[in-house]
Amino acid sequence: MMKPARTKPPRRALAKKPSNNGQKDPVGVYCRVRPLSPSDQECCIEVINETTVQLHPPDGCKVNKNGEYKETQYSFKQVFGTHHTQKDLFDVVAKLLVEDLIRGKNGLLFTYGVTGSGKTYTMTGSPGQGGLLPRCLHMIFNSIRDLQAKRYVFKTDDKNGIEVQNMVEALLDRQKRDAQPQIVPKTPLSRQKPEPEFADMINIEDGCKVEDIDEDSVYSVFVSYIEIYNNYIYDLLEEVPIDPIKPKWNTPGKNAEFIPPQSKILREDQNHNMYVAGCTEVEVKTTEEAFDVFWKGQKRRRIANTQLNRESSRSHSVFMLKLAQAPLDADGENVLQEKEQITVSQLSLVDLAGSERTNRTKAEGSRLREAGNINQSLMTLRTCIEALRENQMCGTNKMVPYRDSKLTHLFKNYFDGEGKVRMIVCVNPKADDHEESLQVMRFAEMTQEVEVARPVDKPICGLTPGRRYRNQAFKEELTRRLEERGGPVIGESEEQTAIELLFQSFPPIPSCELLDANDNQTLPQLIEALEKRRRIRQMMSEEFTKSVTSFRSMLQDFNGVVAAKENIAQGKVTEKERTIISQKSEIERLEKKVKTLEYKIDILEKTTSIYEGEKRNLQQDLESQQQKLQRQLSDKRRLEARLQGMASENAMKWEKECERRVAAKQLEMQNKLWVKDEKLKQLKAIVTDSKSERPERPSREKDREPKVPVRSISPSPVSVCVTWNL
Ligand code: ADP
Ligand code: MG
Repeated sequence: MMKPARTKPPRRALAKKPSNNGQKDPVGVYCRVRPLSPSDQECCIEVINETTVQLHPPDGCKVNKNGEYKETQYSFKQVFGTHHTQKDLFDVVAKLLVEDLIRGKNGLLFTYGVTGSGKTYTMTGSPGQGGLLPRCLHMIFNSIRDLQAKRYVFKTDDKNGIEVQNMVEALLDRQKRDAQPQIVPKTPLSRQKPEPEFADMINIEDGCKVEDIDEDSVYSVFVSYIEIYNNYIYDLLEEVPIDPIKPKWNTPGKNAEFIPPQSKILREDQNHNMYVAGCTEVEVKTTEEAFDVFWKGQKRRRIANTQLNRESSRSHSVFMLKLAQAPLDADGENVLQEKEQITVSQLSLVDLAGSERTNRTKAEGSRLREAGNINQSLMTLRTCIEALRENQMCGTNKMVPYRDSKLTHLFKNYFDGEGKVRMIVCVNPKADDHEESLQVMRFAEMTQEVEVARPVDKPICGLTPGRRYRNQAFKEELTRRLEERGGPVIGESEEQTAIELLFQSFPPIPSCELLDANDNQTLPQLIEALEKRRRIRQMMSEEFTKSVTSFRSMLQDFNGVVAAKENIAQGKVTEKERTIISQKSEIERLEKKVKTLEYKIDILEKTTSIYEGEKRNLQQDLESQQQKLQRQLSDKRRLEARLQGMASENAMKWEKECERRVAAKQLEMQNKLWVKDEKLKQLKAIVTDSKSERPERPSREKDREPKVPVRSISPSPVSVCVTWNL
């Protein structure tokens, strides 16, 4: 934001700024839908509810490329339809900005939309329908009413700062002003009849004001009015010296010699706020006076646009309201003569150029180029908003190209620093504007996502409150008592000094020039006049002594009253202090409780983390055990398979061995059998032979006779053996 443009010496500029704890608020975006003009048939925008509007394409282009009927909805902080009045809009959008201004905080309010969408109607208004600008002025002057400083007590310097002057300096400046023509009429406009053209616009029947205004301060409003066209800044309030022979640009006429306005440059002040160098700042005391200044600027703008053949909808106008405030001294009588106690806040009301693309206005040649440039500044505004949004949402640090246009450069501080930024997007529901309205809505939606730092509260000056009213009560009491005693009444006008009054009551001194030697009249007349003066002086001196005595006694009485009031006030303060102490102890108790609870939470969190750690370890153990088990199972399975393989191999081996051995045994047995057989045969032969020789043989021998083995012997070698054993 713009830091409150305090007029501080450089040493103080480094003083620690009160912090707002980094709090931010999004840019407040509001939407106003103007009524359809009688010449337009089709309405393409519908207010759905308090915060939403719906756009639908005009007949004939109701389907998009994909053949769909496309309606789009957009949401805002609030939507104002045709039934909403200028006051409704002011109450919601601008009131808070004026309250902030009076509390020393800055604000920026701008209207955005295509030409004819109602930007100027919203900002300035029309006869009988005062817009935001006159309403802001009305609320400011309604709030600072009789708390305003006398003209020239505050004085602007050429570095965007404001100084405070004492009564005498201010009086001298007022006299100087009276001696020369100015843009502001010498007689305050409140006592003049305002121009009929705008009288209806500022006739605002609204008693709204800031309630809890600091009454121990004095206030003063300064206005400036600039126009940005083709990336050049022009001061609409600049006084062009009038040549009595040749008519100048502020005198419209066909053959008038026209002096084109000089463009201004932007500078940065010591608080890094941007300002238009050398821009006229006019101190104004009433709504009428301020609006008159605005109206004059407006007229000049119109003349310049006609004379220079400009496209007026392509220029941005900025009306700046600066409020200077400074505390009264400890006596509540004069403004505290301390530069660093001055607070300056600013509210900028911006009526932007039409946001439509150039081809719409059918501009040609140099006008087209200029218009391109103007469009460029709105493009830069869009780029800046985009960059800000990206930086804030993605945490990036992309450079915001404020310097690319005068418009964005001038308002850099509002987006980069602190303050409130509000935007009203104006839309015309007619079919021709549909395409452009979509662009406006998209920009508005993006803007809503940008956040701006919340402004800090104005520091308190440290003097006891109620100074102005104590001083006023004292003056009233003094006047009353002086009246009671028939003494002089304290005059309201400071210019009518006591010394002047005093000199008026003395008889004039006659001429003391002696005409001739026999002149015996001059001297006695002189003596008589001087004698008279001496008597008056003596009388006055006596009167003065009397007055001093009565004043002294009155002062004592008054002091008594003040002391009594102070006692009461002291009692109240003590009571309040007691409440504060009890509240403080309550806060302390709660803080302690919070600490204990935080400690407990801490312990619980630690326990939880320990348990969680244990759980994690156990889970890990479990997992590793499971893996081990799995491994063992698969090992076992492998072993089983191997053992099975080995067993079957062994069985086969043994079977083969057995078969081999059986076969060998069979062969052996067969051989033996054969041998036996042979032997038997031989035996048989022997027996047969011997029988024929000896017919009988003992029976026992018979039993022992081996049986003749048959060729088909039992297959088992065992049975063979058994047979043999038998
Ligand atoms: P812009 O400044 O956006 O180009 P204007 O404010 O000049 O548009 O508005 C164009 C016309 O529409 C003016 O005649 C104005 O009075 C009228 N107008 C705009 N908004 C409204 C509204 N909300 N109610 C009534 N008339 C309106
Ligand atoms: Mg306009």
